[in-house]
This record gives sequence, C-alpha cells and structure tokens, in this order.
Amino acid sequence: MGLTKASVGKCAAEKGIKNVKRKGNEKIIALAGNPNVGKSTVFNALTGLDQHTGNWSGKTVTNAIGHFKGENGEEYCIADIPGTYSLYPVSAEEETACEMICFGKSDITAVVCDASCLERNLSLVLQISEISRNIIVVLNLMDEAERKGIRIDLEYLEDSLGLPVIPVTAKKKKSLLALVKAFGEGEKLFEGRKTIHMEYGEDIEREITLLENMIKPSENDCNIPYRWISLKLLENDERLLEMISENYGFDILSEKARETASESRKRILKRDDGETIRETLVSCVMKKASDICQNAVKREKEKGAVIQTKLEKLFTGKYTSFPVMILFLMLILWITVTGANIISDALGKVLFGIEPYLKEFFVYLHIPRFISAPLIDGVYHVLAWVVSVMLPPMAIFFPLFSLLEDIGYLPRLAYVLDRPFCRCGTCGKQALTMCMGFGCNAAGVVGCRIIDSPRERILAILTNSFMICNGRFPILIALASIFFCGTDRSQSVLSSFVSAGVLTVFILLGICVTFLVTKILSVTLLKGIPSSFTLELPSFRMPDIGSVVVRSVFDRTIFVLGRAAAAAAPAGLIIWLAGNITLRDMTLLEISARFFDPLGNLLGMDGVMLISFILGFSANETVIPIAVMAYTSGGILTEAGNTAALADILISNGWTWITAVCVMIFTVMHWPCSTTLITAYKETKSIKWTLLSFAVPTLCGIIFCAFINVLLTIITSVIN
Ligand code: GDP
Repeated sequence: MGLTKASVGKCAAEKGIKNVKRKGNEKIIALAGNPNVGKSTVFNALTGLDQHTGNWSGKTVTNAIGHFKGENGEEYCIADIPGTYSLYPVSAEEETACEMICFGKSDITAVVCDASCLERNLSLVLQISEISRNIIVVLNLMDEAERKGIRIDLEYLEDSLGLPVIPVTAKKKKSLLALVKAFGEGEKLFEGRKTIHMEYGEDIEREITLLENMIKPSENDCNIPYRWISLKLLENDERLLEMISENYGFDILSEKARETASESRKRILKRDDGETIRETLVSCVMKKASDICQNAVKREKEKGAVIQTKLEKLFTGKYTSFPVMILFLMLILWITVTGANIISDALGKVLFGIEPYLKEFFVYLHIPRFISAPLIDGVYHVLAWVVSVMLPPMAIFFPLFSLLEDIGYLPRLAYVLDRPFCRCGTCGKQALTMCMGFGCNAAGVVGCRIIDSPRERILAILTNSFMICNGRFPILIALASIFFCGTDRSQSVLSSFVSAGVLTVFILLGICVTFLVTKILSVTLLKGIPSSFTLELPSFRMPDIGSVVVRSVFDRTIFVLGRAAAAAAPAGLIIWLAGNITLRDMTLLEISARFFDPLGNLLGMDGVMLISFILGFSANETVIPIAVMAYTSGGILTEAGNTAALADILISNGWTWITAVCVMIFTVMHWPCSTTLITAYKETKSIKWTLLSFAVPTLCGIIFCAFINVLLTIITSVIN
C-alpha cells in the first residue's frame, strides 16, 4: 500500500469550477472544509504539489487541481477548494467553494475537519450532507486534539452522522493511507449507511414536502436532491437558485415555484418569533452539531493553555505587539544576512572557480570565441551571480518566514495592524497580502482576493510592490553590507547586526510608504469607508521544522530561483551583446546609460543604475549584474559573487553612501516586475488600475529619491 504521485499537474488558478475536468476514468474528489483545517496539507501530501499552507484563514482563494493514483492504480482528480464556514457564502472565495461543493459534480466530497474544534466544523458537514451522500469526514489535526486533551469517540461520530469518518494527521503523510484506501472503496464505502437527516421542525418540514412535490415532476433531473432545492426556494436564496439554473440549465425560478415558495414563507413567518427562515435553519444545524459533539467529544483539562494565553498577550498586547513585530523582523533579517553572506561566498567561489575550466573545455571543443564569449561571459556569469547572490538569502528567509506563518503569527499581525490601516481608509487584511508580497509581489497581488471590499482590494494591489520581493532583497543586502558595514565578508557580529538594522529600516520604509500612499489614495481616487473584517485568530501550532524547511527550500526557493534563472540567462546574453556591440567607440550599454545620466543624477544615482532598473523589468534579480557589466566596460562580470569586488567596482565608478541610499530607496519604490503587472491586470481586468500599479510606486520612487538626494547632499556639504 502506498501513495503514488501520478501526474504533478499544474495548479489551476482560474476562479470557478470550469477547470475541474475529469480525464478518462478519473474520479473527482472535492476537498472541502472550514478555513485553516489542513485541506491544502492533505492536497499537497496526496498530489505532491505545493499549494500554499500556513496557519491562518483565507490563504486558498481559488480551486487548485491535482491528480494522484490510489493503491490499486485508480486515478483521481482532486480539487483543493477555498475554505468556507457554511454554504451561505459571504465572500468571493466562499462563493467559489460553495459552487464547487454544490455543483462541482464530484464523486466524493472529503470534508476536512479540525478535530480540536469539531462542533463548528460539523455544521458544514451537516449542510453538505443535504446535497451529497458521498461524503467522507476527514478528521484532521488529531495530533493537536490529543495535545489539547481532546478525545473523540469515532464510532459514535460515524454512527450519528451515518458517514465514514477517517482520523488523520495530515502532516504525517502515512496517516493519509487510510483515506486513500477509503477513496478506493468507492460506492461500497457508502452502502448501508443511514445518512443523517436534518429535521427543521414541523412547520418548515411541511412546507419543504409541499415544495418538493411541486418541483419533483420536473423533467430535468439535476442530480441534486429536490429537498435541498426546496430549502433554497424557501429561504429565497436567489443567488443559489440562479446557480442551479446556470449549472443544470433549467429554470427553477418559474412563476409557479416562486408563488408557492412565497406562500410557504408567509405561512412560516406567521409564527412571528422574530427569526428569519435562514436563521431558523442555521440554528437547527448548529444545535444538531452541538448535540452530536456533546456525546462524541470528551475534553480533558487543556494542556498548554497558559502558554497560549501568554503568547496571545505578547503578540497582540497594546505595548508589546509593535516591538515584537520589529524584533521578529530584525531577527529574521539578521539570521538571513549572516547566513547568506557565508553561503554566498562559498557558492561564488565554487561557481566562479568552475569558469576557467569551462573556458578550457570550450577551447578543447574548438568552439569559436564569438560563441563561447557570450555564453560564458554573458549567460554563465549572470546565472552564477543570480545563484550565488540570490539563493542563500532566499533559502534562509523563506523557511524563517514560513515558521512564523505556521506558528500562527500572521493573523495576529493583521489584527495588530488593523487600527493603523483603518486610519488610512482600509482594513488589516492588507497586512496579510503584504506578507504574501514579501518574497513575491505577484503572489501578493493574487492574495489580495482575501479582501472582500473591491475598493480595499485595489488599494492593496496598487501598494503591494512596496513590499520587497526576492529579486530586490539581494540588492539591499549587498549595498547595506558594502556601504554601512565595510566590505569584509568575514563580518563581525556587530556589522551583521548593523546590516540587518539597515535592511529593517528600508523594509519599514516600504511599510510606512504603503500607509501613506493608501491614505492618499483613500481620500482621493479610492474614497470610501473602511470595512470591518472577521479573521479567526487560530491557535498557536508547533511548526514542523523539517517539513517547513523542505517545503520552503524545495517548493518556494527553487521555484523562484528557477524563474529568476530563466529570466537571467537570456538577459545575460542580451546584456553581454549590449556591452560588447559598439557604435562610434561606445558600447550600446554606455550609450543608453549616458542618455539616462541626467535623470539618474537627479535621483541620486547615474544612468547605468537607471538603465539597469529598466532592463531588470523582467526580473529584478538581474539589476546588479547588469550594472556591473555596464561599469566594467569590457562587458565581463568580474568576480561577481564577491562583495569586495562589487564594492571596488561601485566605488571606482563614483558611488558614495548617498548613491547607495538613493539606489536602496529606488529598489523599494519603483515599477513592479512584468509578472506582477500582468497579474495586476488579470486580477483587476482594468488597464487603468494596471497602469496605476506601475505609476504609483514609480512616482513615489522618483519623488523620494530626488528629495533624499537633495537633502543629503545639502547636509553633507554643510557638514564639510
Ligand atoms: P487550509 O487552509 O485548510 O488549506 O489549511 P492548511 O493546509 O494551510 O493548514 C493550516 C495549518 O495547519 C498549517 O500551518 C499546517 O501546517 C497545519 N496543519 C495541517 N495539518 C496538520 C496536522 O495534521 N497537524 C498539525 N499539527 N498541523 C497541521
């Protein structure tokens, strides 16, 4: 028995259910459940894919599709759908989830539940059980339930629900074997079970029967229970009824049905107990869930509750939350800077040490110089640079950040930042999208879907690029090391502290500008009242360090590095050509750098840096290699991995600490990379907002750089 990874299909990122397509004999499995219960963890374990997981609600905003094979070779298509608390959607991603659950035509709906707070999760199970019979209750987080002293009577739960219940700890892949086995049983698994039947009281039941009898004769068999459709008619759930019509092609909103339902509603509401029909239905479901849990769940004294409370106070307290936030940031950056410098040096030595051998090998193969030069001095050089400078900080930063995410710190951050964001005319959820942008702005822009208000979503998209992505991190680290801590790579602890401090200042600058720009936009172009939001503060979870490291390094780091390398290789070739093709004794790179000199000087840098930022539009990782190539007029990137060599090149080309400050500011604030812009267009479907997401950070960069350049120049000339 074993899990076999069949095809590692691409995660589909389209909204809706259209992307969930059955290939051949595949069975479709919908992975439903409340937010943050481990759906993506189950999905990743089964498919080998790398859906984003983390200890906070709302990460999954679209259906992700994967494929895997069962123990006897059966083929499955599995959909990881966004989390939802009920089948009454209140946000775009909940709507996506409900559409998939109700109309996805899945063979099995696996409802993932959090064993440590079963009651709330059961409400969704009960609601889904009214639409589908083929439900498996996947009782996840059994380890956490045990840690909290919670015991669940599985037999009772299975009997009372009439559904198969499979206890798992999704983080341990092996525990999912029972689930895969259950999938393999197919129809047999559900045979002979007396699935739970929700009772809504005499009045409502009578009307349901009436409506059911009225719509039953319909010639259109829509595969979903008429009883459920009757309930929706009774509730007058227009959106769902429309969805039924859209998905099954017949009009349930016929005059007769509407009239009958309206009369039924009137009869029920005559009771006049102040409750709407939906409220009555929901309270029946909740009562049932509570009754089941009363007998199924035994709670011993909760272990670790005191630590949880203390951590909560520390992370969200009035006086402690901000210092803790800055401390975490500094700590992560310090570890990143210190570790990255050591690994970068070692990697640089290896990669650039290979180069002479590579050249000899090309000579041995009699490859002419006009082919070997661009390949080695262009493509290989830039690639070696990108790998040696980018890989180490990412390989350290991502796992550290993922650890914070897994502990459950991010939603607390959103909670803490809600008040300042409210003052700027938006809500604290923007903090979460900023965290996602930390590393990759394109991911941050997609993540803005967790914000319900369209106005606030646009605000978050327009300002996401103020968060520093991987491509820009190495620029800041290199310049901070060179101009603020000396160039000695064997750095003292103090100098790496200073380096981390400088980085923290620039990241905080990005955060402050986000607040400022959000405020300006929310009183001008995007006026409106800030919305309130409900975000669950999940319990703190012990992160599984091993899996976090593996996941971050192999899934995120390698992925981002691959993307960067794909952009860097052709860029290296183009830059080499631009640095070697001459026109009137000047290389193309020199000509364009000279053209941009006046604007570059105004911004406190030079034309070379400006052209490097422009050419780095496809991938920011290439900015420094381009600059170095342009500065070393021979068009060869010498000793690229070495900060001391980089320092020599920059200083001999007139760089001062003011240049470094201006370049660092421009690194934080300039146009987003091409991928982020394309993503912004896809998300907003508007050329206006896409252009603005280009213009807003660029304008800020120009204004800030010019201002700081003038200010610092005046100050230094007064001091001297
Ligand atoms: P989703 O929002 O339902 O997709 O939840 P995720 O898959 O992102 O998981 C939420 C958090 O719970 C992540 O931090 C996971 O690492 C963690 N998690 C998932 N399954 C388990 C489990 O079985 N045990 C423990 N301790 N943590 C888990």
